[in-house]
Amino acid sequence: MTESSVNLHDCSHCKGTGTCDNGEDGYSCSVCAKEQGFFWNRKKRKGLPCCVCGGMGRTEATTDRLNKRMAPALAMYLSGMLLLLVMVALLLNSQHFNEILAFSSAIIGSVTGFYFSNRGK
Ligand SMILES: [Zn+2]
Ligand SMILES: [Zn+2]
Repeated sequence: MTESSVNLHDCSHCKGTGTCDNGEDGYSCSVCAKEQGFFWNRKKRKGLPCCVCGGMGRTEATTDRLNKRMAPALAMYLSGMLLLLVMVALLLNSQHFNEILAFSSAIIGSVTGFYFSNRGK
C-alpha cells in the first residue's frame, strides 16, 4: 500500500470494515460469497472479505472508476484530441510541430498500451 490517502475513501459496500455483512443475519452477501467460492456453502458465508475493495475497507475511487468504466472512453477521447492537435499543428505549419508530434505519440502510445494491457487481463 502506498501512503497516498488522497483518493482513498471508505468502501461503500462494507462501510470501511473490509468484511461484507450485507446478507441476512450479518452473513456476507451472495456476490461476495460467490467471489470467494462459497456461494453454496452457507456456513462459510459469514465474515467474508468484501469483494468490492478486496477486503481492505478502502477503495480508490478515481482509479477504480477509471479502470473499469472510463479507461476505454477516455483513451479514445484523449487519442482523438491529440491526433486533432497534431493535424492542426500540421495544417498551421506550426514551428512546434515536432514537439507536439513527439508529445502526442508518447501519450497515445502509453494510453493505448494501458488500454490494451488492461483488456488482456
Ligand atoms: Zn468493501
Ligand atoms: Zn458483499
